[in-house]
Amino acid sequence: MITGDAAYIKKINRSLIIREIVKEGMISRADLSKVTALTRATISAQVADLLEEGLIIETQLEHNSVGRKPIMLSLDGQAGYALGIDLDYGQISFTLSNLVGQPISSNFIKINTTEYSEILPLLVDQIKQYEALHSDSRYGIVGIVIAIHGLVAKDEIIHYVPRLHWNDLDLKGDLERQISIPIYIENNANLSSFAERVFFHHETENLLSASLYSGIGLGMMMKNEFFRGHDGFAGEAGHMIIVPDGRPCNCGNKGCWEKYSSESRIFEFLSEKRNIKNLTYDQIQKWLDEGDQEVHEMMEQFIYYLAIGLNNMINMYNPEVLVLDSELLRMYPDSLTKIKEKLNSSISHYRELTLSHIGKKSCVLGACALAIKHFLDVPMLNLSYDQQTTQNESALI
Ligand SMILES: [Zn+2]
Repeated sequence: MITGDAAYIKKINRSLIIREIVKEGMISRADLSKVTALTRATISAQVADLLEEGLIIETQLEHNSVGRKPIMLSLDGQAGYALGIDLDYGQISFTLSNLVGQPISSNFIKINTTEYSEILPLLVDQIKQYEALHSDSRYGIVGIVIAIHGLVAKDEIIHYVPRLHWNDLDLKGDLERQISIPIYIENNANLSSFAERVFFHHETENLLSASLYSGIGLGMMMKNEFFRGHDGFAGEAGHMIIVPDGRPCNCGNKGCWEKYSSESRIFEFLSEKRNIKNLTYDQIQKWLDEGDQEVHEMMEQFIYYLAIGLNNMINMYNPEVLVLDSELLRMYPDSLTKIKEKLNSSISHYRELTLSHIGKKSCVLGACALAIKHFLDVPMLNLSYDQQTTQNESALI
């Protein structure tokens, strides 16, 4: 008979073992015993359970010079799915990944409403379709994380979404009344920082990421947790004033950072100045290649103000890794070197400044990864990034 205590200990041991398998990617029973300090017998029994459940698989390694080929254990990526949803203004994007965070499909729907009462049933309908389509695996869809481009409180209530004009909505509760899959709500910039940590920067406990598209979204990971502040609203650095009496911002202040160092600023300026309605990255790339002086000056200004804000961020948080996500910075020659040259204070310290390898999809990939983390109940995930996988993106309607 298993007593309450024994069942509890069994659960703790199981969690410990899953954590190590996830952390290492592949590990033998012997090494599991070493790193968890659990006996070989305990490991054997627990691993047998996990194999029977279909959560992990065994792989026999081919290249071992001497002795027996070790049998390695790893998570079975095919055992289930995670659904990441990016709920943005005008578009909802869906990415389905397997259990090791590799995207299987990406789709989107265009929306021409900001009404919560219209968007909620749309979401329910799409999620139910995903659920029906992917019930074939051992666990089906293990969790759904929805990225919100606004303030999400600690209790996952959507406090404020500027572009959708949403205030104090319980999307999680409204969805959970109709859907039985666990649902989590998270700020988009936090999810991007989570993706950077999970897919690329495995060795850091302190990561700051800034996405510079329609505004400036700052996400922070500290010791495997999101840095949220008192209510969950920390990281609104885009509204840090960097130019006294500068350009007016819809937050009510003047001279906010994102009025100078977000891509939308450059797109808006050039669209208006050159009278082009749907300005594309390709067009800007063309101007850059042609040596267009005005566009080059715009980029230099973008970098100048970006460095001012980053300098402040670095002084405030002393991040180990700082990731910048911007397509324009990826396109502009030597952008990273130019930014670094402007971060030369003897006081500010960081270890690594880098451009994001994931780009705009970091938010949905982070959402998938967070759903997996919740399902496995582990403190952190180290997953590998597969660039091939998001090619099959298509519109749902
Ligand atoms: Zn502002």
